[in-house]
Amino acid sequence: MNVKQKMRNLLIWLQGLFRKTPRNPEVKVALSMMAMTHEQELSCDEVHALIDQFAEMHLRGENPANFFPLVQRHLEMCPECREEFEALLAALDVILVSM
Ligand SMILES: [Zn+2]
Repeated sequence: MNVKQKMRNLLIWLQGLFRKTPRNPEVKVALSMMAMTHEQELSCDEVHALIDQFAEMHLRGENPANFFPLVQRHLEMCPECREEFEALLAALDVILVSM
């Protein structure tokens, strides 16, 4: 395995961990650092894996582009993912309002 594959596996592992412990800030920081050191552009699948965190941060008034610059860049370029993101934001908004 080359370094890129190892990094990718680590990122996937962290994403799995993050899903199980969404309130663990250390995992969040580790994941965002990984996302930043990941120099390649993200695929749609990778964006889908991060998009719920991205949307939640956005709704909390944080700036998710600071943590996930590659997701932000992908959303700017990919109309399909942007549509998904906007649909997710709308859905989360409904959930938050009804709570
Ligand atoms: Zn995409």
